[in-house]
Amino acid sequence: MNKFTGYRCSLCGAEYLPGQVTYTCPKDGGNLDIIPDYEAIKKKFHPEDITSRTESSLWRYLPLLPVDEPEGDSTPLHAAGWTPVFALPRLAEKLNLKHLWLKDESRNPTASFKDRASAVVVTRARELKAEVVVTASTGNAGAALAGMSAAVGQKAIIFAPKSAPQAKVAQLLIFGAKVILVDGTYDEAFDLSVKASNEFGWYCRNTGYNPFTLEGKKTAAFEIWEWWLEAHREWHQKDKQLDDHAPLTIFVSVGDGNIISGIHKGFKDLFALGWIQNMPRIIGVQAEGSAAIANAFNANTEIITPVSATTIADSISVDLPRDGVRAVRAVKETGGKYITVTDEEIIKSIAELGRMGVFPEPAGATAYAGLVKAAGSGVVRIDDPVLVMNTGSGLKDIRAAMKAVIEAPIIEPTLSAVKKLL
Ligand SMILES: *Cc1c(COP(=O)(O)O)cnc(C)c1O
Ligand SMILES: [Zn+2]
Repeated sequence: MNKFTGYRCSLCGAEYLPGQVTYTCPKDGGNLDIIPDYEAIKKKFHPEDITSRTESSLWRYLPLLPVDEPEGDSTPLHAAGWTPVFALPRLAEKLNLKHLWLKDESRNPTASFKDRASAVVVTRARELKAEVVVTASTGNAGAALAGMSAAVGQKAIIFAPKSAPQAKVAQLLIFGAKVILVDGTYDEAFDLSVKASNEFGWYCRNTGYNPFTLEGKKTAAFEIWEWWLEAHREWHQKDKQLDDHAPLTIFVSVGDGNIISGIHKGFKDLFALGWIQNMPRIIGVQAEGSAAIANAFNANTEIITPVSATTIADSISVDLPRDGVRAVRAVKETGGKYITVTDEEIIKSIAELGRMGVFPEPAGATAYAGLVKAAGSGVVRIDDPVLVMNTGSGLKDIRAAMKAVIEAPIIEPTLSAVKKLL
């Protein structure tokens, strides 16, 4: 029994039954959207049935997910999602905004947003009785798949570029995955992992290829929706004159484009169910040296032209984004924008968020770097409520982090040396 009615190709619109396809559209290779049974969900559930749940993980949205609950209710698989939202009043003031928050995805079990996708894909793999799951990854998707697989004893194989940050490779190895480092780019690892999974019959998690990743990632939108119901109410009590029509503006860093498409899908689901009346505005942020999706958006086309990616933000360093079309639409359909930032701006943002008690990896700080640029250029107004996503932990890439700070002094173990220093 499948918990969804089928798939729809995001390019040609062709529809498929759940058992008919596994990855992308057989006609044109387009990404498939999983179609939930909205009518059945609407009949059976009200928003309160969800918001009153006590489950503090993404599994609180089980009625809206295309999989059943995974085995065992106290594994790390049950710790994915339900990440905190922090208010950032000092940064808000600096940016001349009234309301600024950050959703901290580094609090996921393997310390990045990718756990949402991997939790759902591993659950799907168990349903399909897949012997092996595999993914290509710049690091985080692999760490997430390895960790979520380890949680339930699922065999996992990860292809990563050999340039992946050491901490991420350490995660892969510690979680007991079979790790294959490819002497090439992420894009080359991607193509190789698809070939290998076809050859050996493995279940492939690849981002922008397996439709279930989006279904995991959409749970971030559900959490934002629940948080916003509450935050908006409080906000309204404090400031009766607030501009009630200003939608929430969400800043997301973008590489392959699957996170931003997932967040968009989550809000589209809520809209289709009639549980929200207004869509938030979604703003995508890319590194200047890896901006294929921003380029397409700015050229007003859905044709994604590959680039030769170079950026310190390894998690969003992508030549050919695998979910580019939906990522362009996520922004276009919500009245958002694409912004690009330099590596220098990304590094500066790591330190600025650090001073707020949040430690992002470069790709995590990229969304905030985009906000800094947007606030200076009038893309967001003072009254706009803004939520910035931090998608990954700074501990995953301390080499990049050390570029954002001045190294600590080393002194003799004497009081006079301390006095001299101060
Ligand atoms: C994967 C990732 C992103 C970008 O997600 P895409 O789906 O590739 O656009 C951003 N930040 C971090 C930390 C990531 O791991
Ligand atoms: Zn198609």
